Amino acid sequence: MKVYEYALKAGITRTKEFERKKLATHAVNVGIRCGHECTYCSTPSLLRMHPAFKALGLDPFDRGYAIVDPTTPERVARDARRIRERGMVQLCTTVDAWSPEAQKHDLGRRCLEAILAEPGWTVRILTKNAAIIHDYDLIEKHRDRVLIGLSITATPSMDEVISTIEPNTSPITQRMAAFWEAHYRGLRTYAMFCPLLPKVSCMADSVDQLVRLAVECDAEEIFAEPVNPRGSGLRITSEALSRDHHYDAACGVIPIRRAEEWSWYVVRLLRHLQSSVRAHSDIGRLRFLLYPSRLIPEKLEEIRRDDAGVIWLGKLQRQGAR
Ligand code: SF4
Repeated sequence: MKVYEYALKAGITRTKEFERKKLATHAVNVGIRCGHECTYCSTPSLLRMHPAFKALGLDPFDRGYAIVDPTTPERVARDARRIRERGMVQLCTTVDAWSPEAQKHDLGRRCLEAILAEPGWTVRILTKNAAIIHDYDLIEKHRDRVLIGLSITATPSMDEVISTIEPNTSPITQRMAAFWEAHYRGLRTYAMFCPLLPKVSCMADSVDQLVRLAVECDAEEIFAEPVNPRGSGLRITSEALSRDHHYDAACGVIPIRRAEEWSWYVVRLLRHLQSSVRAHSDIGRLRFLLYPSRLIPEKLEEIRRDDAGVIWLGKLQRQGAR
């Protein structure tokens, strides 16, 4: 993994999109290309026009590199002091503050310190790296102001498959251990199951195991989102799975590149989540993030008949949805 450094301008920014998702009002990002290199990551598409790629002579769709900004904590500290209207900051929204290249500069901890030094801010951490446990001592000092989310995308039985599609993240077993440790230490947690892929983790029993983990760890909210079908993420994912001989998983992913199969997958995933959350917890804790524009009309109607836990995004939300 080649790591580039690039000085960004933003520290803490407002994010209407994450506010609509009920995740956060503000965002901090410590770079523009995450070294975890998940095959389905939508950041390369999202940030493809960023001037950093041209300046560094990089193709935004190539793989094998990360772009990090070691000076991020300084701008975060400046903005944490300067912004008057404070709220919840998500660390991070387009990269991961505990990815290997971010760890090298201790960016997760230093950004946390910068935000928490100022009153009025709370933080939502989202990471796929168990290295977050090294910062639990700091979080303990601000335990009411920090929500910890380990993004967990399968059960431990799928660790090998996950190491193909999330190659530089912590294994699922370690992420789960970090989640448990947060709970044992009395820290606030929320669950993030995204994405749960067909034949990898969206089967009823896998979803049920994950929901039970969230409930046992007292997760305040249970977020889930179907995989984004746009861009090249699903193609790269299915190619990587085939290359590593995970043919069953590859066969689950290939069809959902088409709108009809993606719609079936979304309904199945939602129903498994609703049924498990209803069985083990309160459906009010479920937050299923859904952009309905790619759903075929029949499946959109089916979801509308029972959309408990769904946060409608995009066009439907702007129209006041139902
Ligand atoms: S951890 Fe998140 S930001 Fe990093 S590559 Fe994976 S999906 Fe993208």
